[in-house]
Amino acid sequence: MRAPLTRTPVGSGRYRCRMSHKSARDDAPTLAEGSHAPAVLRATRDLLWIESPDDAKAAAIRLVASLGGDVVAADQADGGALPVDVSFGVGIPLLPAAAPASVARMLLERHLPGFVRDAHRAVELAARTTRLTQDAEHDALTGLANRRLVGRALARLRSGDVVILLDLDHFKRLNDTLGHEQGDEVLRAFGRTLNDAVRARDLAARYGGEEFVVVLPASDDPDDAEAFLRRLRRSWEAARPHAVTFSAGLARAGDDPAQAMPAADAAMYAAKQAGRDRWIWSQARPDGSPSAEGSAIPAADVPGAAFVAYSRLDVPADGSDDLVAAFRDRLGKVDGWPGFQRLEVWQDRADPSAFVMVSWWDSEAAFGRYMASSDHRQSHARIPTGDLRPRPDTFHRYELVAR
Ligand code: GH3
Ligand code: MG
Ligand code: MG
Repeated sequence: MRAPLTRTPVGSGRYRCRMSHKSARDDAPTLAEGSHAPAVLRATRDLLWIESPDDAKAAAIRLVASLGGDVVAADQADGGALPVDVSFGVGIPLLPAAAPASVARMLLERHLPGFVRDAHRAVELAARTTRLTQDAEHDALTGLANRRLVGRALARLRSGDVVILLDLDHFKRLNDTLGHEQGDEVLRAFGRTLNDAVRARDLAARYGGEEFVVVLPASDDPDDAEAFLRRLRRSWEAARPHAVTFSAGLARAGDDPAQAMPAADAAMYAAKQAGRDRWIWSQARPDGSPSAEGSAIPAADVPGAAFVAYSRLDVPADGSDDLVAAFRDRLGKVDGWPGFQRLEVWQDRADPSAFVMVSWWDSEAAFGRYMASSDHRQSHARIPTGDLRPRPDTFHRYELVAR
């Protein structure tokens, strides 16, 4: 227990402290001017490092101890406690305490209230910085990471990481028919669905408009990215407020990770060209430039498909809406035919204005029956499934190759 002290104001509001023992009163040692200075200086430095109420509480408790005081629970405090809560809202209220008229008591009264005030301010400033950072790095509509964080994630890409670029299909049409409010609602819902579908180590971001980016770290499971997309598609179909689909381009970062984003972009474009509501993998070409490669219709997706038929459609290269209308029209004709499996749109590499409808049939007989009845007979040909393949050197188009 420290000896009780008296204190006498001196000079510029500072206190000179003396022992108050009657017997030692006259020759009591004076508290050396500035002997507590290191503790106060340390506390001042602590202020710079306070980022949370926890930090503030720890710094305040340290200061109390270094000035010779104790910290007590507020509901057990007696007259020796100062009415200054040093808990900063973390846990139960805590008060600094020291024997009445002790040196510690005097130092606490002198230094603690100001320190606690400053520490509250430091906590406030840290919270403001956190809020500003959050605002600067996140999209206001969906709450997802924004393009700035995508840029950082892309700069840190490692070989094997997967970049997925997703774009909502015909979003402009939805805005035009249902209004911007509904458009915003769809974007918010897609943001939520995307956020729920990713794991903590993945990045899900709104890249801009109706485009989103997902970055998946390299995984041992080659199906990881597509499993993610299948999961996303299922949840989106259950959650979406309107029947909006999405297209996606995937690219695995290679030796030059900077190519992954342009490659995913090219693959996404290829997915749009191939009819939307699908995803396509991309690979970088040997010269490093992006190339969408791979099939929107993996063979495994069409078990037993024996035959495909194609017919050319003369629609302008940029007339995607016309193309979709033509696609729907054709689908209306073939859907329901015995043996019909699937209809796809491919683009002829040699002639960008020419699109090719490719229908899949489960047998030659089924194909033959369709051929016999079709009003497009002249433009149809039958090609074996294996003869339809993407060209590895194409940018975003495909070519039908007949052997
Ligand atoms: P595609 O299938 O080829 O992607 O067609 P699309 O209509 O989705 O693409 P397009 O780029 O033509 O149109 C994108 C639209 O997204 C146009 C723009 O008005 C809309 N959009 C972009 N940002 C927002 C937004 O924050 N809110 C709403 N409601 N609409 C937005
Ligand atoms: Mg877009
Ligand atoms: Mg779009």
